[in-house]
Amino acid sequence: MKLVFASNNKNKIQEIQQLVPNSIQILSLEEIGCTEDIPETADTIEGNAILKANYVTEKYGYNCFADDTGLEVETLNGAPGVYSARYAGEQKDANDNMDKLLSELKDKTNRKANFKTVIALNLNGKQNLFTGIINGKIIEEKIGTNGFGYDPIFVADGFNKTFAELTMEEKSTISHRGIAVKQLLTFLQKLSQ
Ligand code: IMP
Repeated sequence: MKLVFASNNKNKIQEIQQLVPNSIQILSLEEIGCTEDIPETADTIEGNAILKANYVTEKYGYNCFADDTGLEVETLNGAPGVYSARYAGEQKDANDNMDKLLSELKDKTNRKANFKTVIALNLNGKQNLFTGIINGKIIEEKIGTNGFGYDPIFVADGFNKTFAELTMEEKSTISHRGIAVKQLLTFLQKLSQ
C-alpha cells in the first residue's frame, strides 16, 4: 500500500519508512508531484493536521497522514499553540520565538506548558487522529544546544534537563511527536496483521 506523508522533510520520511510494516510504502509530497505550499490556515493544531491530510487526499487521491505540532503555555491560554513556528514573526526564527516567550512569561509564576503533536491519517475513506502530549515547564533561560525550536527552554515533568540537553534518542522516547508516531504505528501494524 502507498501512503503519503504530507511532508518534504527527508529525515522525517526516512525515519517513518523504517518503522512502518514493509507492506507500506511511504511517499513524500515531492514524489506525488505536490510542489505547492499546502495551506495551514486552521486555528488549532488538530485543524492544521486535518487540512494538510485532506488536501492531499482530495487533490491527489492518496491515503495520507499529516502532522502538526505546537507548544501550549497554560498562563497564556495555550499560546503560541498553532502559531508556534511564527510566534515572533514570519521569519520563523527559533531564538526570536524563545525570546518573545521568555519576555511574555517574565514575572509569571505559573510556567506550565506542553508540547502537542496531532497526526491526522486518511486511510480508505476514514479519518483517524493520533495525539501525543508531553507536559513540562518553561524555564527562565535557554540551556542546551541539541534539538530545535523551543527545546532549550522546555523541561519535561520528571526531568532536570531541557529537551536541548537530551540526545535525539532520549528526546524521541518521551516526546509529543514520539508518542503520536507510536500510536500511528500501532494502528498501521494492526491493519497489516
Ligand atoms: P511543526 O508542526 O512540526 O512544523 O512544528 C511547529 C513549530 O513548533 C516548530 O517550528 C517549532 O517552533 C515548534 N516545535 C515543534 N516540535 C518541537 C520540538 O520537538 N521541540 C521544540 N519546538 C518544537
